[in-house]
Amino acid sequence: MIDLHTHSLFSDGELIPSELVRRVEFLGYYAVAITDHSDASNLDFIIPRIIQVADDLNRSQPVKVIPGVELTHIPPKSIGFFVSRARELGARLVLVHGETIVEPVAPGTNKAAIEARVDILAHPGLISDEDTSLAVENGVLLEISARAGHSFTNGHVAGLAKNAGAGLVLNSDAHSPGDLMAREFAHKVVEGAGLPSGSLSSLLSNARQLLEKIGYPL
Ligand SMILES: [Zn+2]
Ligand SMILES: [Zn+2]
Repeated sequence: MIDLHTHSLFSDGELIPSELVRRVEFLGYYAVAITDHSDASNLDFIIPRIIQVADDLNRSQPVKVIPGVELTHIPPKSIGFFVSRARELGARLVLVHGETIVEPVAPGTNKAAIEARVDILAHPGLISDEDTSLAVENGVLLEISARAGHSFTNGHVAGLAKNAGAGLVLNSDAHSPGDLMAREFAHKVVEGAGLPSGSLSSLLSNARQLLEKIGYPL
């Protein structure tokens, strides 16, 4: 298993990064990205610290740990700037907190994130056909979310992605240890999104390809 969207206590997750990683190791994962919520207030604080712990853990245990970030509730006008800033600071995986229907995420966030070529647009809610096509063009993966609430629109995201040929990836968006997915549960979330049974392996293969692209081959 691979999970490219998790939170530690550097934002609103419950676990220190080392415990998060130990728990996914125990579940048999190959790789995990730590992607804490970030904006102008904390980007330069979080990223170097996550890089530090990822470097240490990558020397000392088998799960590949990818230092990432989830840019969250940043006004769409500023998203492009902060995607570049996050990469300059060394984030290897940049997510944007997309237009989930359970929060008042600013309209235009999905589009701005895709235009800025983030790696993954997290929980894109009722993403439009136009933005889905742009995601294909810009190589942005769309997220199928296992998180309660964000997952309400998984069927919509999966349907549009299938029609447009957009790449999908399954993430837990874990904030607590109980949010981390066993493989059996991951299969159910994928099927629950309306994807054919057995699709988990193609979503994992998309995650693996992204890891290769950013320098973490499995
Ligand atoms: Zn989010
Ligand atoms: Zn998140």
